[in-house]
Amino acid sequence: MEDELQRLRGEALVRLDGIDQSGDLEEFRVEYLGRKGLFSGLMKQLGQADPAERPRLGQLANSVKAEVEEAFAARQQALADSAGRESDKGLDISLPGRTVPLGRLHPVTQIMDEVCGIFEGLGFAVAEGPDIETDFYNFEALNIPPHHPARDMHDTFYFSESVLLRTHTSPMQIRAMENKKPPLRMIAPGKVYRCDSDITHTPMFHQVEGFLVDEKVSFADLKGILSIFIARMFDEKTPIRFRPSFFPFTEPSAEVDIGCVICGGSGCRVCKHTGWLEILGSGMIDPEVFKKIGYDPELYTGFAFGLGIERIAMLKYGINDIRLYYENDLRFLRQF
Ligand SMILES: [Zn+2]
Repeated sequence: MEDELQRLRGEALVRLDGIDQSGDLEEFRVEYLGRKGLFSGLMKQLGQADPAERPRLGQLANSVKAEVEEAFAARQQALADSAGRESDKGLDISLPGRTVPLGRLHPVTQIMDEVCGIFEGLGFAVAEGPDIETDFYNFEALNIPPHHPARDMHDTFYFSESVLLRTHTSPMQIRAMENKKPPLRMIAPGKVYRCDSDITHTPMFHQVEGFLVDEKVSFADLKGILSIFIARMFDEKTPIRFRPSFFPFTEPSAEVDIGCVICGGSGCRVCKHTGWLEILGSGMIDPEVFKKIGYDPELYTGFAFGLGIERIAMLKYGINDIRLYYENDLRFLRQF
């Protein structure tokens, strides 16, 4: 009986040592440690042993079984640990992490910031105003009375006869001058709206209006400020020309062209083979506008200008369809 116990102990420990799968481990448990297992069988034979020997043999059987159970538990733990390491092998910690895509500023916002930055550097204050305007600020105060032919060019969205979506940022000139006395040096960036949509027009687009009012402001000041702006926005050597034009709220008025940034002036499709690109409208503020808001036109003079942000961005980046800005195609937007 004693030899039998020692033999079973040795056999069980050797078996355990060679087990490397949890399935085999379970098989071992049933075979040796289960209710009908080898150890239980041996215990039952204890009844047939010499009564004097029984307590000692019983104690020995218990300690051998406990030893095997302990070895079994240790083996089980070792297998579980190595299974954990096994699953770690699917994880390659040297792989680069997943990057979160970075958002960036819309090209229109970038150009808007750049334009505003240049004028702020020249001492212009930035003012913003309402998108919904009255007929008075959008037209009448800017010397565009009812039935003036210039209204036709504006393709206005009306809410009612006197309330509308502003068609330009010029109403901010009036709002600023109403509240302040000269000297005034301001720009007004913002959204404007016109009922028009094609390759070069969207119903909503962005403008920056600028104006400077003081005593003895001349056209030379206008030319100086705009020359500095164009040199910083495009290139020091960009040729500029002022071309006579008409706006109801400036007199005299001029449109400003720059040498074509695409072909360098030799003529291409973008500049319609003229070598020049129109980039903004400007002029000396009409004395009629000063009268409307109560400035003395004999004392004060000033200039104003307005430019379209989308147009500047199209020229700067060589974009040929304005609608691309608002289609939210990431392939387009990621280029900026
Ligand atoms: Zn050209």
